[in-house]
This record gives sequence, C-alpha cells and structure tokens, in this order.
Amino acid sequence: MSSTNTPTADDVRAELEAWLDDNWDESLTVRQWWKRLAPTGYAHPMLPENAGGKGWGRDLAAVVNSVMAERQVLGPPSSGLGWMLAAPTIAAHATQEQIDEFVPPILDGTVGWCQLFSEPGAGSDLAGLGCKAEKDGDEWIITGQKVWTSGGQVADMGMLIARTDPDAPKHKGITYFAFEMDQPGVTVRPLTEMTGRALFNEVFIDEARVPDANIIGGLNNGWAVANTTLMFERASLGSSGKKPQSATPGEKGKALDRPVTDFAKKVRSEGGVPALGPGLWQHYVDLATKAGKNTDPVLRQELVSLWSLIEINRISTLRAKDPNQRTGAEPNIGKLNMSEMFRRFREVGLTILGADGMLTGDSDTTSQGAVAELALFSPGPSIYGGTDQIQRNIIGERVLGLPREPGPEKGTPFKDLVKNA
Ligand SMILES: Cc1cc2nc3c(=O)[nH]c(=O)nc-3n(C[C@H](O)[C@H](O)[C@H](O)COP(=O)(O)OP(=O)(O)OC[C@H]3O[C@@H](n4cnc5c(N)ncnc54)[C@H](O)[C@@H]3O)c2cc1C
Repeated sequence: MSSTNTPTADDVRAELEAWLDDNWDESLTVRQWWKRLAPTGYAHPMLPENAGGKGWGRDLAAVVNSVMAERQVLGPPSSGLGWMLAAPTIAAHATQEQIDEFVPPILDGTVGWCQLFSEPGAGSDLAGLGCKAEKDGDEWIITGQKVWTSGGQVADMGMLIARTDPDAPKHKGITYFAFEMDQPGVTVRPLTEMTGRALFNEVFIDEARVPDANIIGGLNNGWAVANTTLMFERASLGSSGKKPQSATPGEKGKALDRPVTDFAKKVRSEGGVPALGPGLWQHYVDLATKAGKNTDPVLRQELVSLWSLIEINRISTLRAKDPNQRTGAEPNIGKLNMSEMFRRFREVGLTILGADGMLTGDSDTTSQGAVAELALFSPGPSIYGGTDQIQRNIIGERVLGLPREPGPEKGTPFKDLVKNA
C-alpha cells in the first residue's frame, strides 16, 4: 500500500487478484456472484464509500476493469443504466437514506433501471419536456409519454424527469424522481430497430404515482440532477479500455439465475468478435489478410486512419483522468469520438467484406455477423446521450465561450413558451 490513502495501480491489481483467487467460482449463478462482489467496493469503485464504492478515480477503476477482463470473470452489472447512470447520480444528489435504499440493489444487480428522459417533443431540447407531475398528499401523480427508453421492458425503476412547476422557466420547474415501473398506469411498448432487436421502448404514463420521498436532489432541481446523469452517460459512452463481460440486471432480464460462465467467457473462449477497439481492429486486419486485401494501399490507409482514431480516443481518455489536463469537454469529445469510431468501423468492415458484410447471424458468416450488426447499429451512437450536433453546441458554448444559440428570454415561464416551434 502507498503512503497516502489512495492505493497505487499495483496495489489495486494485487489486492483484487488476491480477492478473486479466493472468491471467483465458476459454479456460481450470476445472482450469487454479484451478491459476493457488491459489498467489496469493486462492483463500482468510483462511487464514494457511503454509496458502496471506494471513492477511486477513473484510473484505478480502469485497473479493476482490466484485471476482471484479463481473468475472464463476470464483471459487475455495468451493462445496466442503474450502474452506469442512476447509482452515481443518486450518490451525488440524494440523501443518505435514499442512497441506502436505491444503490445496494443496483450494485448486486437485483434491480434494473431505465432512463425516462426523452419524449416525442423533447429530445435535444430536453428541458422542454411536457410529462407532468402533480402533487397529491405525500405523492405525485405522473402523466405523460416517454420514448427511446432503453431497457424499459426489463427495468424495475426509472430515472424520471417530469414538470412540477409550469409557471417557472423551463429549466427550473423540473423534478427528478426514482419511479417504480411496475404499477397501474405504466405501459411499456418495445420499438423494434433495424437490427431486428428492440433495445428501446415507448413508455406511456397515465396517472401513475411516485412518493414524495423518491424525489432525488430536491423539488424543481431536476435539471441539475439530470445533467449529472447526462455527464455520466457521455463519460461512460466515450471511455475506452478493457472491460469485463456483464449480464442484464433485474429479475426481468432473466440472467440472475443462470451460471456465471454463460456470460463471463463469452467473447474469448467461444472465438466471438471483440468489442469496438484494438481487438476489433486486429480482427479486421486478419479478415483483410484472409481476403488477400492486406496489400491494397487504400484499405491499408483506412486501417491506419482507424488505428489513429482509436489511439486518439485512448489518449483523450487518459487526459480525462488527469485533473491538470482537463478542459471540461472530455465527456463530449469522448462521445463524439465514439460515434465517429462506430461509423469508421462500419465503413472499413464493409470495404473488407463487400457484400458478405451484409450477412447477419453468428455462424456461417465471415465476421460472425459483426459487421452487419455494426452497420445497422452505427447510426445510434451519434444520437443517444445527446446528438453529435448537441455535443458540438455544448463544447462551443460552455467550453470555448462562443455565443449562445438565439432563443426566448431565459426567464420566460414554461407555460408561455411556444411548443414544438
Ligand atoms: C439507441 C438509442 C437509445 C436511446 N436510449 C434512450 C434512453 O434510454 N432514455 C432516453 O431518455 N432517451 C434515449 N434515447 C433518445 C436520445 O437521447 C434522443 O434521441 C436524442 O437526445 C435526440 O432527440 P430526438 O430524437 O428527439 O431528436 P431531435 O432533438 O428532434 O433532433 C433531430 C435532429 O436535429 C438536430 N438538432 C436538434 N436541436 C439542435 C440544435 N439546437 N442545434 C443543432 N442541431 C440540432 C439533432 O442533432 C438531430 O440531428 C436513445 C436514442 C437512441 C438512438
């Protein structure tokens, strides 16, 4: 252990290796493993200690990820929006009582969350949302429609933002609730994407209820709380580095009672295709070599350009870890890099495989369907978590100090704004 309270990367590696030697067991179910992992702090090391984490920065959390990925153990429930967004937001804004109620079931994966932000008329202009919350005793009655709700069909709880004061300016009359999905008045309808899957849903809320005690971060302070969630979303989507496999949290995800080995070793031991990054790049080089295209100068140039983008993203992520190097735009830049990487991986993959790249399915296709999957999914990353244009607006206005976009007076009450204009 180093002389300060913060351990070194070597300390963390050694400590976690020893813990895994004693505790990783391939005969466990996902539920049993996550229950064992949750109280150690390794399930979400960046959370503060009062929320079940270790209070470590991104650099040490990356060491935990690396060790778990290298050992091919099942990682924490990090594929869920509870882990990625709700837990850090609650840790930052909620009372200790709320932290104790909501965070432990996120860390042990027994409760799954979704993000109830976007509406048909409020995406980029999220603060223009119309879903309303009206006080009724010590409860709120919620009515409105949400859309593009990823994982809504398997979520138990939602991070809901709703309008609690239409007389206030639009950013000031919003409140952030921890909202129960399984109740009368909530209808979740999956929306099928062109990948053939239904990642997201539309959610209709018709006089559903949420207790006063589930307000996170204070009445009418929801815009600040939602921005914390969005900041974690961009930082997480744009981050690079090795990550262990995960599984879907919550009972409805149907992973909890399956063996850990159904998920933990999926990629490497079954010869599957690696995730976006250096592993997939190497897979492309192998495919190009097999197809006899590795001497094509144009393809070589595209591959090197793609490698440069991966490296730029890696170095940007390193900069985000160093407080002396931060500009404040790292989450936005990381998110922009990620959506560019999706597009470039799609283009290079289709150049290598040609028509074969259109084939879907795990077997009997040259890339096990990975390139077709990428091609069909690649428009998504430039939209979710705030579109590429919105990331550029944020960098322009908040980091570079450029003039704000024209719009109504800042103090105009929400109810007096022109809707959908
Ligand atoms: C795969 C996927 C998963 C998602 N998951 C979730 C989820 O779990 N929860 C959730 O709440 N939402 C989710 N979303 C929704 C996502 O956050 C919104 O789609 C996004 O914010 C854009 O909003 P919109 O679709 O209403 O487009 P709009 O806001 O209508 O934008 C349309 C176009 O206009 C451009 N535009 C809009 N305003 C400006 C401006 N001021 N300056 C420049 N250009 C502008 C946009 O960049 C875009 O190109 C998801 C989306 C996708 C694709």
